[in-house]
Amino acid sequence: MMKSSGNKEGSGERFLADAMLGKLCRWMRFLGYDVEYADSSMEDDDIIRKCSTCGLILITMDVDLSQRLERSILLRSFDIDDQLLTILDAYPIGKEKEMSRCPVCNGILDLKSGFMGNSVPEAISRNFHEFWECTGCGRIYWKGSHYDKITKKLSELRDENNIRREK
Ligand SMILES: [Zn+2]
Repeated sequence: MMKSSGNKEGSGERFLADAMLGKLCRWMRFLGYDVEYADSSMEDDDIIRKCSTCGLILITMDVDLSQRLERSILLRSFDIDDQLLTILDAYPIGKEKEMSRCPVCNGILDLKSGFMGNSVPEAISRNFHEFWECTGCGRIYWKGSHYDKITKKLSELRDENNIRREK
């Protein structure tokens, strides 16, 4: 594993998204970030402890909470695109990581080719030949209309990120 100080390659970091940032969490997983979600049952102290012991970078909109941690990202905008651009800027991640994680559980997706049996509806197994199975929760994914919409948005985010970087 490559590790060097000052190298903030996002693909090598792990994150914890604060409660209320569920949507951001799903979109970060589409980009390929390793991000866990702190549900509302977690107290501030639990969040601090989890980040410190597991080496997670906290993503939060809570100023006080972010100040209690050495490594955190404080988000100031409620806009999902702005939030994602902040993260892409601080922790760049390679395009090849896109769609490699389950948006629901953060598990790694495993490519399965060929017949899926009863795991997917018949019409889907007839029309698609590549499937991804989540190694965490077992959900099956394929490149349906959702996939196109998501990857289009990710490309637009990357374009915007590049424009901002050049300014
Ligand atoms: Zn999963």
